Amino acid sequence: MKHWQQLLQASLSHPEELAARFKIDPAPLVAVAAAYPMRINPYYLNLIRRPGDPLWCQAVPDVRELTDRICQPDPLNEEQLSPVPNLVHKYPDRALFLVNDQCAMYCRFCTRKRKVGTKRMIITSDTIKAGLDYLGRTPEIRDVLLSGGDPLLLEDEKLQWLLESLRRIPSIEIIRIGSRVPCTLPMRITTRLAALLKRYHPLYINTHFNHPDEITPAAALACQRLAAAGIPLGCQTVLLRGINDDPLIMKTLFHQLLRIRVRPYYLFQGDMTKGTDHFRTPIEKGLAIMRSLIGHTSGLAVPTFAVDAPGGGGKIPLTPNYVRQMGDELVFNNYCGMTCTYGNVK
Ligand SMILES: *Cc1c(COP(=O)(O)O)cnc(C)c1O
Ligand code: SF4
Repeated sequence: MKHWQQLLQASLSHPEELAARFKIDPAPLVAVAAAYPMRINPYYLNLIRRPGDPLWCQAVPDVRELTDRICQPDPLNEEQLSPVPNLVHKYPDRALFLVNDQCAMYCRFCTRKRKVGTKRMIITSDTIKAGLDYLGRTPEIRDVLLSGGDPLLLEDEKLQWLLESLRRIPSIEIIRIGSRVPCTLPMRITTRLAALLKRYHPLYINTHFNHPDEITPAAALACQRLAAAGIPLGCQTVLLRGINDDPLIMKTLFHQLLRIRVRPYYLFQGDMTKGTDHFRTPIEKGLAIMRSLIGHTSGLAVPTFAVDAPGGGGKIPLTPNYVRQMGDELVFNNYCGMTCTYGNVK
């Protein structure tokens, strides 16, 4: 068994296993972990310093997951937007293809917590073949985003078969992989994996870091290997109450991502996913964070802040308002409040 597989196997999946290390009462968390799976691998566990810290809150079950009366199991209406199971086709030219039910850690705020890591997510060779078949007969899809679960937890051989099958479909121009492994289990990014991925360009990876404490030497090495294989790396961060809903934390995170060659791509407003209401922040919070970044730091460190519209409307970008109309003139406020006008043309 490979090192990363051994780590995965040594994951904690019962709250009782946390008690010895952190001196907490695990009893109230048992029901939570029964409803939504827990998996904390030894690598991520070692990054947690104390109960309640930003990494703990992402990984450890919370009783509030069971008392959420506001949010919905499938707020993005993904199941209805799937022409075949596990393939979401809602935009004209791209599709989301769920190819694995497992992750290296089960994030408590996961959008797909209704099924990821549970028996309710059924991914087999047959569902993958049905997805490939749909992509083959739907040539308007030119960009396929592999997700799950985490595609990079598939074994090398399986991943190679999948990428080869995708590359046999001529209408697919771009392959994207969404993976949290560079953050939650960076040892999975072996030199062998990077060499394998490199054969299927143009291939992009969007990873997912939420806090500066996740940026470790091991994560940096993983991203270095992927970048050296010519893979452009982006990050899809989720705005999380009490974890990263702070301008300084976000700026630090985005600067540190750039240093490990990851470009902030999206900052997501929390989806209205059942069991995650306690993580949600007011929209104004995200807008204030964007205002604190735009102009104050390089554009490379500024992602697009977006809300994924409930019901399946897709991602809507949210930007602070810098402009108003006065007669024929547009009046702007720049990042530090200075007013400028621009004579518009008809
Ligand atoms: C996010 C998403 C995509 C990709 O969106 P981009 O804005 O191109 O990154 C594609 N399909 C679905 C269903 C998605 O949720
Ligand atoms: S890695 Fe992504 S898919 Fe997996 S549990 Fe976390 S948020 Fe969900």
